[in-house]
Amino acid sequence: MKKIFRITALVLLLTFSLSLLTGCMNGFLKDFFEKYFGKISELPIPGSSSSFVSEPVGSSSEVTSSGIVSSSVVPEPEPDPVITDDRADAPTAIEDPSYSPDIVVSFENMPYNQLSATRISERLKEIGKLLRIETDHEKIDELVNEAEQLIGDYNYAFTLAMIHSDLDPSNEYWNAEYDYLRDHYYSQISIASTAFLKDLYHSPEAKYISEEFDIAIPDDPDAEPDYDEEALSRLNSKLSKLLGDYSDMVSMSTITYHGEEYTYYEINALSDPYAYKDAQAMWLDEYNPKLAEIYIELVKTRTAIARLMGYDDYLDYLFNSEGYSYTPEMASQLIDNIIKYVVPEFSELKDIGYIYGPEVDVPFDEFMKWLKDAFKKMGDNFTGVLDILEKYGLYDYKARKYKKSEYTIYIDRYEVPFMMTCYKRDFSSIQTFIHEFGHSYEQYMSYNRYDDDVDMSEIFSQTLELLVSRHFDLYFDIDTTQMLQYDALSSICQTLPGQAFFTLFEFEAYSMNEEELTVENLNKLARNCAEKLDLYNEDYPDSYARNWVTVSHIFDTPVYTFSYVTSASVALQIWKISRTNEQKALETYDKLITASSTSFLDIIKEAGLKSPFEEETMKDIGRIINKYLVNESWGE
Ligand SMILES: [Zn+2]
Repeated sequence: MKKIFRITALVLLLTFSLSLLTGCMNGFLKDFFEKYFGKISELPIPGSSSSFVSEPVGSSSEVTSSGIVSSSVVPEPEPDPVITDDRADAPTAIEDPSYSPDIVVSFENMPYNQLSATRISERLKEIGKLLRIETDHEKIDELVNEAEQLIGDYNYAFTLAMIHSDLDPSNEYWNAEYDYLRDHYYSQISIASTAFLKDLYHSPEAKYISEEFDIAIPDDPDAEPDYDEEALSRLNSKLSKLLGDYSDMVSMSTITYHGEEYTYYEINALSDPYAYKDAQAMWLDEYNPKLAEIYIELVKTRTAIARLMGYDDYLDYLFNSEGYSYTPEMASQLIDNIIKYVVPEFSELKDIGYIYGPEVDVPFDEFMKWLKDAFKKMGDNFTGVLDILEKYGLYDYKARKYKKSEYTIYIDRYEVPFMMTCYKRDFSSIQTFIHEFGHSYEQYMSYNRYDDDVDMSEIFSQTLELLVSRHFDLYFDIDTTQMLQYDALSSICQTLPGQAFFTLFEFEAYSMNEEELTVENLNKLARNCAEKLDLYNEDYPDSYARNWVTVSHIFDTPVYTFSYVTSASVALQIWKISRTNEQKALETYDKLITASSTSFLDIIKEAGLKSPFEEETMKDIGRIINKYLVNESWGE
């Protein structure tokens, strides 16, 4: 392969730090959301409401012939200037007589109305009490259906409010809706759902309910340590408020640089690397300490929740309550293997650059045309899912001021994903779109089976980035294609040290005692972790020493970053297969969606892939980096 000039370290760092940011934002709100509805780590019963909440809501209502809900049935919500927490009179369901689970409506026609969290949780409690004594199956069916509908509608409203408030963060109505649903989920709905599952356990027909409705009823809720419900509710509310404060501060806070106001995301978009560096430093001077203080409070609150639930520390609680198929010790060992086998190979690239970063400028419609051409070569299913997203308005790609989130979320009610990206015609935008489409594809094809399995869900996004990169030549010239293929591979490889950095940071932070938890110590810790993974650069100290406060995952979803590490190591194995046999690689990708196994490590084994925790796997990745990135021998 012809040697091509690589970009300078300066531009490289800018790009790297950007890709870190967008990379980490991908799906973060999805995961944030999962916290509330999927695998709720703050909930007392491990894995409790997951399968229950994700059930589609049953309904026998009529549908219009077009399947589109008419606007007379679903009035557009009017902005409501005074929103209080008191919604005692609001309905408990989405009022939508034409709803049918079999008919998808376009996103803009999806109905919405305000719900009363108080009435929903009270009704859930009543239903739970009734189910403790009811033996008649017909009555039981009615009651459980009603409970599913209550939670399903809350779930749906929450999803919709989140998407709308992300589409336009200046919209007060949707922000208030989102805040209400989030806060009351924590303080009321999550607790009522847990109590409901406890009631199911005590039902004389528990077995029938579990089988008929596919609800995972906890084995023995009474064996759970007793906890103070009120204390938990208080801590959960605190957590919710801290996360809200964080989200507002990180997205809305500005500095004045050369007379202009900049948000953090606008600073990231600065094309002049020197201006970027200066403005970023200025922004961090002001907001690093404030955001770090929020992080400290989050660590303390989560630790308090873990103790309340009978665990020594938060990591212990997290790994025990979230159905991980590995332990914190295994995770630490894997990070050690990365340091041993991956980091030294990458260090070879430190002075010459990790990517080529050729400038590309692709209008969205051209990108879509090219993507469809690529999908034509990769199989009908990809095209089919993309068509559905287009037809029903299920993605938003427009970059707007304050729109910061890039993620995919599943709308259970209609069994479709919604994709949010900020397309800016550059390579990073292209990769982000493909990444999120990988999530959409998996969610649509599998009915969102990996909703609560972060290790699995990031496989589909990262692998698709690599598989589509094989078809860059359908749009770009040969030189650009080679550079972009290099960059696509490099960025997935960089995920290993890049994301392990955050996991390492979090493991240490959650092990600190209250006195050790200071802004200064956390910034110092970030630097130490960066040095261990050879990511630290004297010329750009902020990239790791202070910039950690802008990475939402570590605030919202502790240890989530580690799943990028495990999934990247799977993605790289599939990429390796695609080098000699694309068809087999695509079959492996689909096998991961349809596998009969249920836990991460079993599923990848079933698909014929190696566990990331095997020493050999990291050695293999070290060899990939050496061959394709250091020596650039792409020939055979
Ligand atoms: Zn993702």
